[in-house]
Amino acid sequence: MFLMDDRGKYSKYIYNLSFKGIFNMNMPKSINHDLAEIAQKNRLSRIKLADGASVPRIGQGTWFMGESAANREAEIAALRLGVELGMNLIDTAEMYGEGNAELLVGEAIKGIRDDVFLVSKVYPHNAGQDKMAASCEASLKRLGTDHLDLYLLHWRGNIPLAETVDSMEKLVEQGKIARWGVSNLDTEDMQELTRISKGTHCVTNQVLYHLGSRGIEYDLLPWHRSRNMPIMAYSPLAQAGSLRKGLLENEAVAEIARDRQCSPLQVLLAWTIREGDVMAIPKASSLEHVLENASAGLIQLTPEEVWKLDDAFQMPSWKVPLDMI
Ligand code: NDP
Repeated sequence: MFLMDDRGKYSKYIYNLSFKGIFNMNMPKSINHDLAEIAQKNRLSRIKLADGASVPRIGQGTWFMGESAANREAEIAALRLGVELGMNLIDTAEMYGEGNAELLVGEAIKGIRDDVFLVSKVYPHNAGQDKMAASCEASLKRLGTDHLDLYLLHWRGNIPLAETVDSMEKLVEQGKIARWGVSNLDTEDMQELTRISKGTHCVTNQVLYHLGSRGIEYDLLPWHRSRNMPIMAYSPLAQAGSLRKGLLENEAVAEIARDRQCSPLQVLLAWTIREGDVMAIPKASSLEHVLENASAGLIQLTPEEVWKLDDAFQMPSWKVPLDMI
């Protein structure tokens, strides 16, 4: 447990973390483990990609970060604390703030680049042979690094998938990216992609997935599982519940949160990663939110809890088009 001083602040008991800002923050009620334990658990429970690289089950999103000078310091602090707590996969995109999120991430990872699994995404209209190299170069420059650990096609556009695969493979050969993947591709798109020569080099598909949006469980997630290609779940917190009315107030979610003395959002996050083979990338811009999300990595829902949530939010028993935002 945390040791607190008499003003309710964290004490220096948090010996493992070099992150100083933590000593001045108030502890969310939902945190009932010490930081070293949270960091260790998140660093140990990882997911293997097909090429052997390992990534944390909980990473960090950055959409809407870097858009306000007033929030800059807090956002950088949040990302750095997240890395220390083992959420050391950071997801960004050239689209986010038209490069401003990448600039912010670049600042956040200064001095800790080697400890971060860095992911960025290319716009569909830049995902062809004449533009992708320049897009990637610009992302690298904004991020202050010489390579990305993973580069994703943000969504499918008009450029043929085969051309995107060729361009991605060239970037791998040049050492600009270590591997590549896609985002927002439904099952038929994935089948088409993997029929293309070297299309099977794709390591992940980043898609919308949260308790209130379970369409991928019908066929996309099983397809990925059968190929050992993990899904990366975006908006795992349903954007703090706003993507599905009544999600956080639902009795099953609330009851589990009450029993476990955690927050409904932690239940959502624990649910998304419950099987151990889905990565989730919640976005949080405060230390308190980062701490809560990181500590959700210690919550292993019981089969009874999962059934309760299944009952409240059933997966579809027919094909639904891929949900996206
Ligand atoms: P999330 O589901 O991650 O929710 C983010 C929201 O939840 C923010 O408002 C955040 O507030 C709030 N929040 C985070 N943690 C807590 C907490 N512990 N308690 C209360 N509120 C909390 O939504 P996103 O849409 O941001 O998805 C995550 C990431 O996925 C994106 O940032 C992006 O990197 C990626 N993404 C990819 C897409 C794609 O097309 N490939 C599409 C959408 C997202 P605050 O910021 O104040 O902490």
